[in-house]
Amino acid sequence: MVKSIEEINRRIEKGEAVVYSAEELKGLLREGEDVSPSTVDVVTTATCGIMSGTVAALTVPVAEKGVFRKAESFWFNGVPAHPGPCPNESLGIVDVLLYGTSYANMEYGGGHVLRDLVEGKEIEVRVEADGNIFENHVTLEDLVYSKLLTTRGAFKNYVAFVNGEPDPVKTIFSVTGLKGPYKEVSVSGCGEVNPVENDPLLSTIGVGTRILLNGGRGYVIGQGTRSTPEKPNLSVYGDLRDMESKYMGGFKTSKTPECITSVAVPIPVTETTMPYLRVSDDDIELPIAEIHNRIPFASGTYGDVWRDKDHEVRYVFEKCIDCKVCDVETLCPTNAFTTKRGIDKMRCYNCGACVTICPGGAFVGSCGTMEIEGTDVPITLRQSNRSRANQLAKRLQKMIQNGTFLLGKKMDEI
Ligand code: SF4
Ligand code: SF4
Repeated sequence: MVKSIEEINRRIEKGEAVVYSAEELKGLLREGEDVSPSTVDVVTTATCGIMSGTVAALTVPVAEKGVFRKAESFWFNGVPAHPGPCPNESLGIVDVLLYGTSYANMEYGGGHVLRDLVEGKEIEVRVEADGNIFENHVTLEDLVYSKLLTTRGAFKNYVAFVNGEPDPVKTIFSVTGLKGPYKEVSVSGCGEVNPVENDPLLSTIGVGTRILLNGGRGYVIGQGTRSTPEKPNLSVYGDLRDMESKYMGGFKTSKTPECITSVAVPIPVTETTMPYLRVSDDDIELPIAEIHNRIPFASGTYGDVWRDKDHEVRYVFEKCIDCKVCDVETLCPTNAFTTKRGIDKMRCYNCGACVTICPGGAFVGSCGTMEIEGTDVPITLRQSNRSRANQLAKRLQKMIQNGTFLLGKKMDEI
């Protein structure tokens, strides 16, 4: 049976569409349920991860018209941005590109600025122009234009990293420095719920496909940079004003701050897509590479990362031994933890770093192991948040069920 997007949309409008989140679908398939295009219309998939290719295009009021001629340098809360590409001459407002990976210091970068904006916080902007400095304070409301896009994101799958040498390596794939030789593994990727993993041929994902980006409405622009048929990724965009802060933000690492971004994509269930929607964590290979040369030399699966593991990390207050300095407070990549308030669930990325860092064993979360040359090596950092991805897929599922989100027909292949 060939079901068209128009037919599915008619069913959505009538409130008759059967919609599963990817998490639900995989659960049903594991239980041996019969799922087919005749019983399901749409599956909502999602990923939440470190997406270094995130950039915002913003139009920022700085001064009255004619006060300065041309912005040469620009900072948001000390994070450098890039004025232009249009000349911005004598307007007092400046078009500027802010990279998610730019940073003011090791604690604060572009990803943090973007989340602060979405949370409605006031941001200090500084402009160097005509040899002078101009300052203003703005909120998201003040920005005339505020679009977010990814040059590459929602990767189908990724590579896990280990350090084969004795000295720790400061890298974006570790919070404290990746310890070796082969002491720990750092992983990325949401496995079986990832959008591209569920439609790897991109038969339903293309230019113009409607999505959720960080919880707000967005679109697929095309494929991302360095996308290949074997490892496709997407370029997407949306408006910052629609977004929810819990799906985005900055992420501190042992090298430089990174940027968290989340993408949800509805996959129409057809005879073409159904075989791929059956993919499970255990089917998806996760190559393991040495951090120095990035060449894979071993492999496991996403089952090692997510299957029967704790997707959320918990804090057990009674186990805290009250260290003189709480390393988790300092090192938590999203500043989600304080000994006073515990874990802020809206900030926590469920990365698992605290489970290893805390000497008191006050954090509970089984993150699994990967086998390397006969030894089970612990996964100590998850740079993707499966729990949040599932939340975003659920959000999209609800929007489709209540008729506020219709599927978009792709305008072109990517
Ligand atoms: S590191 Fe762990 S045990 Fe030490 S103060 Fe922090 S939460 Fe408590
Ligand atoms: S899992 Fe622990 S270290 Fe990671 S974000 Fe949550 S509280 Fe911070």
